Amino acid sequence: MSAELRPATSKTLPDEARFHESGWLTGQVTATSHPGEPHGAGLGQRLNWLRAGVLGANDGIVSVAALVVGVAGATTDTGALFTAGIAGLVGGAISMALGEYVSVSSQRDSERALIAKERGELRDMPQQELEELTQLYRERGLSEATARVVAEELTAHDALSAHLEVELHIDQDDLVNPWHAALSSAIAFTLGALLPLLAILLPPPEWRVPVTFVAVLLALAATGTVSATLGGAPRLRAATRLVVGGALALVVTWLIGTLLGTTVV
Ligand SMILES: [Zn+2]
Repeated sequence: MSAELRPATSKTLPDEARFHESGWLTGQVTATSHPGEPHGAGLGQRLNWLRAGVLGANDGIVSVAALVVGVAGATTDTGALFTAGIAGLVGGAISMALGEYVSVSSQRDSERALIAKERGELRDMPQQELEELTQLYRERGLSEATARVVAEELTAHDALSAHLEVELHIDQDDLVNPWHAALSSAIAFTLGALLPLLAILLPPPEWRVPVTFVAVLLALAATGTVSATLGGAPRLRAATRLVVGGALALVVTWLIGTLLGTTVV
């Protein structure tokens, strides 16, 4: 669940997009991009964050909804529902944050190791590294002469950044902070989890489960549509998948809760 919550950084973009994004051929990205075009690091990054947040909220909606509907199948005791819902919310938020922290930390560790290695290579064998950079630009379609000029000028300007970008697709000023990632996934999960928690606690007992079902499925339809829109995917299909999956989760836990409630209590 946590891998999705990390925003895709620039390295996941196709080369074409990175060209524009890095702005090294276009000059200032903001100065040359056309209005309404999704160019520039800022917009893409923000959309990715937003999309990650929506996916995290989905996790919160589905897992806490399944939990409280299951408990509601077994008991009408409001205290039990409240306890289960809060425990699910807190446990889920911590689990999301922890997973995200671990995954982003190890990603950052490996990026740091690559940066150190590249720095050492540039120090120990600058000529080979220049050849390498030239070759990488040739592979991107530049002529030998142009590739050489580009490689030489970039090396003179900031050799390390040039190698990190073209060779390793790393922007050393843009490494994801594990604490930020952890905190934002916990917040996204909590916001999602609050919906089923309120939907199960606020109505009178006989309305709890139906209200939660409807609220959750509507919310999933909305988040599915939003995340598909942000990702440029077909909306109806994304929303349908989520709604069907969410409905399945609720039906299964509600049935289990009902069975346990009648046999155990
Ligand atoms: Zn290199």
